Amino acid sequence: MSDSPRLVTCGLPYTNGSCHLGHLRTYVPADMYVRYLRHRGDEVVFICGSDNHGTPIVVSAEAQGTTPAELSQRYHDHFDATFRRMNVRFDHFGMTDGPTNHHRTQSMVTTLEQQGHIYRERIQQSYCPNCQRFLPDRYVRGLCPHCGAEARGDECDQGCGKHLEPGEIREPICTVCNTPAEMREQEHYFFRLSTFAPFLVEYLEGLQGTANARNYAQGWVREGLRDWCITRTLDWGVRYPGRDDLVVYVWVDAPIGYIAFTEEWAAAHGTDWRRYWCGGGSITHFIGGDITYHHCIFWPALLKGAGFGLPTAVVASGMLKVDDHKFSKSRGYVVWTNEDYLDLGLPPDCLRYYLLAHTSHTKELNFSWRAFADRVNNELVNTFGNFVHRALHFAHTRFGGVPPNPPRAEVLEEIRQTVSAIDEAMESYEFKAAVDAVLALASSGNTLIQSNAPWKLIRTDRDAAAGVIADALQIVRALAVLIDPVMPETGRAIWEMLGQPGPIESERLEDCTRPLCPGPIGMPTPLFSRIEEKQVAALEAILAARVADADSRSCEPSPDEPLLSVEDFSRMELVVGRVVLAEPIEKSKKLLRLVVDIGSERRQIVSGIARHYTPEELVGRDVVVIANLAPAVLFGVESRGMILAAGDEASLLVPLRPVPPGTRVR
Ligand SMILES: [Zn+2]
Ligand SMILES: [Zn+2]
Repeated sequence: MSDSPRLVTCGLPYTNGSCHLGHLRTYVPADMYVRYLRHRGDEVVFICGSDNHGTPIVVSAEAQGTTPAELSQRYHDHFDATFRRMNVRFDHFGMTDGPTNHHRTQSMVTTLEQQGHIYRERIQQSYCPNCQRFLPDRYVRGLCPHCGAEARGDECDQGCGKHLEPGEIREPICTVCNTPAEMREQEHYFFRLSTFAPFLVEYLEGLQGTANARNYAQGWVREGLRDWCITRTLDWGVRYPGRDDLVVYVWVDAPIGYIAFTEEWAAAHGTDWRRYWCGGGSITHFIGGDITYHHCIFWPALLKGAGFGLPTAVVASGMLKVDDHKFSKSRGYVVWTNEDYLDLGLPPDCLRYYLLAHTSHTKELNFSWRAFADRVNNELVNTFGNFVHRALHFAHTRFGGVPPNPPRAEVLEEIRQTVSAIDEAMESYEFKAAVDAVLALASSGNTLIQSNAPWKLIRTDRDAAAGVIADALQIVRALAVLIDPVMPETGRAIWEMLGQPGPIESERLEDCTRPLCPGPIGMPTPLFSRIEEKQVAALEAILAARVADADSRSCEPSPDEPLLSVEDFSRMELVVGRVVLAEPIEKSKKLLRLVVDIGSERRQIVSGIARHYTPEELVGRDVVVIANLAPAVLFGVESRGMILAAGDEASLLVPLRPVPPGTRVR
């Protein structure tokens, strides 16, 4: 056992929705980091779990007619299975609603009370006179007291992004029944966060990880910290010690889950969790940038107050955009990990590669299927896969295995330099730079083969050709180990084709220059398949259909979009049209293909209304069409225009008195 064991954690996925690319933006780099540390020989444990408490889960469960426990278990299992499919392999994946976390949270809160870090105070809280209950967090909406934007009870999610304390929101409204809330007095517990400011100033100074996390946190401390209400009136959650009417706020028990899950893992592996949490080891938290406040302010203060060790590093990932649009489930700008990727048979390795290689970890990642396909085709198929295949294929067909020639010193030096470039990049959490260094080595391998042309050389000088292939295979050996953290299935596949002994997981980075074990090499199989144009179009169509579907359901104006001018409106060609043909679209449950007579011509329009209308009830109907909308292709069918409909049931807008097709709507 090493003296400084390392604990790496990932932000806990919240159990009221499915896994999407926004999640993977954090989990894949964390998994790559852990695999890299293991190849370096570090003792690492990789811990995560699901976050089960808080009002959004209670609200979702009520809406779905189930219990918060059932909902949490269902999404917990979903995340656990999805992470495994993506080869994100935690040593333990716990639940914050598990008994270990209930116990650890109550014990920490009791310690904080004993140490004088918690006090009681009566505060004014939103109360719904109709539902006859207090309205914690998501049960209330209103206006942000800081910036005036529409806000949720605990967070100004559409405006300044500030955390809101109970009772702070202005003009509160009950989210269950839309009744304006009253203010009523209630006793709550507060953590003396303000007294931790001097500690945090010093702590943040030495906090490792990405600069974005540290800089934001330092800014917040400079602005001044207020004490933090840590209780809520709710049944679901960890009971506040000694109170049966209050639970602790979810942002207290969620990070304590990191400790509880380490305890669960340690108990199962006969080791002591205190090695990690009571000083001595190092703790690295991977998080999404949006939960920096909780991890760099609340969490270290809680740990410090309760006498625990402190996180060494916080690594915060940038946000995700989809096709230049702000990531949004409600607007359809979302890519689901299972439904849109893994279930279509696409390889987890390619997505892992893209997420790591596309942009720097702290920058915003603008996802598009086009960019994904380009990277897979140009970098994985043409460069990396091509080189590995050529080297193995030549070794197999001409030499039947690894030639006995020792690799040249320049090749070994180039591998050494690649390893140190990777070390340097990983030291500063520049995962893209590390992946780029691996690809540069593959590219150099391609050049080696191309410029030496061993297929010609072998006719005149067999030994020289063997030397070229020995050099190339040495690079292939290094690539297997170096790419393994990024694409574990690819690393293993290369290792097996090279016929090297032992599992690749136990290979050290410094062994990349070790000579290959001699032995036969079989006929290699290609590592990657091209993403064809057809497939890109199909993937784009799924996204386009989801956005169209969300558009057709949504009528809420976005707060960040300017108002439409009269000129803008008059540019929109709205006309009455008559449906002359309607039929389902193959493989789509939501879309219908319509042909609509708009007076001047007959238009083909794809409409997301198949769930609400049969084709028969549409033919002969007069509808309102946007006639000058840019064409789009949905499931391979071109759509030129859009039918207007209102609400979740897609109620079609129809003219009240008959007018001929083509009549302009003004
Ligand atoms: Zn109410
Ligand atoms: Zn605000």
